[in-house]
Amino acid sequence: NIVMPQEVKDIIKQIEAAGFEAFAVGGCVRDCILGRTPQDWDITTSALPSQIKEIFARTIDTGIQHGTVTVMIGKTGYEITTYRIDGEYKDCRHPENVEFSSDLKDDLKRRDFTINAMAYNDSTGLVDEFDGINDLNKGIIRCVGDAKERFTEDALRMMRAIRFSAQLGFDIEENTYNAISKLSPSISHVSMERIQVELVKTLLSDNPGYVMRFYETGLFKYVLPDIGRVLGGRYSRNALTMLKFSKKQPVFRYAALLNTLEPENVRKTLRELKLDNYTVEHVTKLVANSKVTIEENEPALREAVHQYGRELIQMMFEHEAAIIATKEEITGIKLAGKKKHLIVLRAMYDEITKRGDCICIKDLDITGNDLMEYGLKGPEIGKTLNELLGVVIENPRLNDKATLIALIEHLN
Ligand code: ATP
Ligand code: MG
Repeated sequence: NIVMPQEVKDIIKQIEAAGFEAFAVGGCVRDCILGRTPQDWDITTSALPSQIKEIFARTIDTGIQHGTVTVMIGKTGYEITTYRIDGEYKDCRHPENVEFSSDLKDDLKRRDFTINAMAYNDSTGLVDEFDGINDLNKGIIRCVGDAKERFTEDALRMMRAIRFSAQLGFDIEENTYNAISKLSPSISHVSMERIQVELVKTLLSDNPGYVMRFYETGLFKYVLPDIGRVLGGRYSRNALTMLKFSKKQPVFRYAALLNTLEPENVRKTLRELKLDNYTVEHVTKLVANSKVTIEENEPALREAVHQYGRELIQMMFEHEAAIIATKEEITGIKLAGKKKHLIVLRAMYDEITKRGDCICIKDLDITGNDLMEYGLKGPEIGKTLNELLGVVIENPRLNDKATLIALIEHLN
């Protein structure tokens, strides 16, 4: 049941025609068997990088020292990697050296999990040396070989095990799980950027609540202790429930996870994760504003849009929806009133937006220049514009130059 795209078939056939072996390998084989669409197709081969470069017209040296060449077919790149034996791991992350091999089995042996260690091509069919199919059918993440050894070689694999379990809805096989619990302190050898990638993939999966496994195995004791405290604390259920109800985007999932922390600690944690400024600021603001209530009338909403900005206010609605759903589930009490309030506010926001109501100074029908001509100077101008904005937010019909000029007299 593995159907390779024509381009992948062609690449493999060309390598075979030159006298070498080539297989689709890893994630693409796993995803095909599961009936999921692979993100990309990785190819493993007995040919050396230099030999791959002789076979194909357009190639890019992606990681020649690790044996990887990217072959360009049209606008798509395919990573082709020579069968590899990873040398000794020195820093719990990277092999000291890699050795090329002519045996597919060597290459499959170095891979992390049985479900990621299968290869396929049309001439040989499926190559499954480690019973990956069996684990796929059982829904299990299991290390290739001895779990403790594999996690000692590369500590990132501990995060990957949990991430794959969340993405696929799989259990972690007992030895593999126990090895993570035992070796969790070595996670401190992994860079925060890599930890963040695995964390966000977990949060954005269909099972974001599996993030709990980062706490249960002890991983988030040695890194990210604040997240550990959320997951191990008395609001843990709150965070896990809210994750389930939150929109599948990093900002909302991080905000759901961290909603019970103090805003300063939210910012600190997100910075620790080396997240981009956009995510740090928006998540922190969502948490900080999560108790804000906006009155159900247009002037109050326009004032709020002015204060928070269009993008954030819509995010606040989204965040609030998840908070309400979470409270309903945890308390078992229907919050019909809160839900209706949010629906009304969202409809009102659409109305205000469609009408183009004035919500900021540049929407005013009068400019600083107009006020200068009128005779105002320096700080008076900004102050007057703000006052006029206040009036117009209250009553949009007054947003007309002549009316505003007349109003200035009145304000002064
Ligand atoms: P995804 O769908 O997330 O891309 P994937 O299985 O393709 O999943 P990649 O990180 O793209 O994962 O890696 C491709 C393959 O390389 C994996 O399937 C696995 O066989 C191998 N691999 C990747 N990272 C490691 C690692 N740290 N240790 C051992 N093998 C690894
Ligand atoms: Mg991949």
